[in-house]
Amino acid sequence: MRVPLLDLAPQFDLVRKDLLRDLELLCESQQFILGDKVRRFEEQIEAFTGAAHAIGCASGTDALLLALMAIELRPGDEVITTSYTFFATAGSIARLGGIPVFVDIDPRTYTMVPEAIKKKITPRTRAVIPVHLFGQTALMEPILEIAAAHGLVVIEDACQAIGAVYKGKQAGTLGDMGCLSFYPSKNLGGFGDGGMVLTNIPEWAEKIRLLRVHGADTTYRHRWIGINSRLDAIQAVVLSRKLPHITQWIQARRENADYYNKAFAQGPVGPPGVTPGCIPTYNQYVVRCPGERDQLKAYLERKEIGTAVYYPIPLHLQECFSYLGYRKGDLPESETASQQTLALPIYPGLTQEQLEYVVDTIYSFYGETG
Ligand SMILES: *Cc1c(COP(=O)(O)O)cnc(C)c1O
Repeated sequence: MRVPLLDLAPQFDLVRKDLLRDLELLCESQQFILGDKVRRFEEQIEAFTGAAHAIGCASGTDALLLALMAIELRPGDEVITTSYTFFATAGSIARLGGIPVFVDIDPRTYTMVPEAIKKKITPRTRAVIPVHLFGQTALMEPILEIAAAHGLVVIEDACQAIGAVYKGKQAGTLGDMGCLSFYPSKNLGGFGDGGMVLTNIPEWAEKIRLLRVHGADTTYRHRWIGINSRLDAIQAVVLSRKLPHITQWIQARRENADYYNKAFAQGPVGPPGVTPGCIPTYNQYVVRCPGERDQLKAYLERKEIGTAVYYPIPLHLQECFSYLGYRKGDLPESETASQQTLALPIYPGLTQEQLEYVVDTIYSFYGETG
């Protein structure tokens, strides 16, 4: 039985007819960048998340970059974040000359340990970027308290967590700004790259709207030095059609996760823990393998089950960040997670037979290898 890591075909089938018609109209309209389609999608996201302002941009990476540009991060400014995440989280900080300062993760939820932030705060610290990894929010209440006590801006990397809820609020609306990605494999994915910044602060919303068009407030009049990072109308049209289904898709992921959680409650692999107060969306379902992670991955591949390793090298050990001076052993939980975790198929549309096959195959691997 074949079980891919992700299959987007059922999503497309659900919206195919309406979407193809929308795309035809869009082509005829010739309004390809920003415009009313993008604004309409931004309004839909505002309604869905409860954020006062949603600003579309070219990618999740750019959403992080624009948020940091909005607070005018300067070379040498420090931003506290995690190392066990996608490159963009720290890359966007470094891209502006800022210094990513890494704290370790909770080994159960893979998100930032709030207490660890305090020890890393210096006079140069400007912001904290908690990452809502795998569709699960960080423990936001203490993070927000610590940030408020030290005058730090909180920018949520919610790129994997659209629809996740923490204490009644949507991921991306808990801090000062939240960043979303619409990369195709995210829970709300376009037909290419796309991203969005969420905020309740009108001044920052206005600034980001200008920063994404080279800082221009009217054509050829530049108030800020911005970048070119606009959301394409084609992505907005796709995402507008998909958004009404997201709640149902997330629910299906949660049900699949429940199945795995029960199946792995007594081993042989460790199901993910849940942040207290959070209802996760399982953009990835990541288990911890006691050993032989790479052998398990290869074994599952031979049995036609797709898996992925998020992330094999934590950011503090990446070659490009060697100038930051971290060494092996500095962030033990992040390093161990990189060696032990494996993402299993979790997408909506998996059948009961496929779920059982994944579980049985994992059990048979550990049975066979002792
Ligand atoms: C996907 C992702 C991003 C941004 O990715 P883009 O591909 O630029 O949209 C940022 N942070 C995390 C944690 C992500 O998973």
